Amino acid sequence: MSDLYCVFGNPISHSKSPVIHTAFARQCRQDLRYEALLAPIDGFAASVRTFIAAGGRGANVTVPFKEEAFRLATRLSVRAELAAAVNSLRFDGAEIVGDNTDGAGLLRDLLVNLACPIAGRRVLLLGAGGAARGVVAPLLEQRPATLVIANRNVSRAQELVQCFAASASASLLCPGGYPELAGQSFDLVINATSASLAGALPPLPAAAGIFAPASLAYDMMYGKGDTPFLAFARAQGVERLADGLGMLVEQAAEAFHFWRGLRPDSTPVIAALRARSEAGPAG
Ligand code: NDP
Repeated sequence: MSDLYCVFGNPISHSKSPVIHTAFARQCRQDLRYEALLAPIDGFAASVRTFIAAGGRGANVTVPFKEEAFRLATRLSVRAELAAAVNSLRFDGAEIVGDNTDGAGLLRDLLVNLACPIAGRRVLLLGAGGAARGVVAPLLEQRPATLVIANRNVSRAQELVQCFAASASASLLCPGGYPELAGQSFDLVINATSASLAGALPPLPAAAGIFAPASLAYDMMYGKGDTPFLAFARAQGVERLADGLGMLVEQAAEAFHFWRGLRPDSTPVIAALRARSEAGPAG
């Protein structure tokens, strides 16, 4: 019988994870079945237990259950502990092991796929939700010259900065709010807000020139064509634009490794998904 994996979310029908993991399994000659499961908003833990009882070996976890998965895990990786969120679970006997592969996925997409070094660069991270929290430590490990976190709700950004300040080797700053970004420019601007999901743009100062020459604008959101953030960056003259499709596939590759001990080649899977969605920005 094939080993059983799934992704839990609500909603979940849009998830590309089944396509990605099925491609990885084929590539690595692993006999596994992967499906998307809709967990009720108030029934995540029960859904996980039912899945384990049915023989499930591991699961991905997406919105809105990452924090609940963190609390459900009986053992955590260091990066899951730092992120205080779990996007990958492995069921080892009685143990529920939790990991967070989002940060590693983003880093691999930036460093390898997009050849965008972070060391010594000025980085701006927009947003202070779960996705932002998961990428702060991996970004800091790369020793940027500075990492600035801006969020609509300023106190959430300040909280995030305080959490990581002690371990930060780079200067880790919260500017106050979006208006305070005026007059500062960055080599890499990462949109980790969910604004694009609603077709909105974070309230960036319009004429402030936050994008340094040759900067990269990165939106964790992905889809057909430019997101509002990428359209804004393009209008500001930014030539290097990337959406979060590469991050999605890379975090999945990390999860696959967490489960199976094998690292799939993400490049053909990113290319196939990109072709299916009729392109979108990259590089
Ligand atoms: P959360 O709900 O945890 O956080 C949402 C964040 O977006 C908060 O910082 C919120 O600010 C901010 N925000 C929402 N709307 C606006 C707006 N109109 N203007 C400015 N800021 C806004 O979401 P996640 O952190 O889990 O996800 C964020 C994004 O990252 C989503 O688009 C998600 O799809 C994407 N993502 C992509 C991944 C990938 O692999 N490519 C992996 C994980 C996430 P405030 O605190 O002020 O409300």
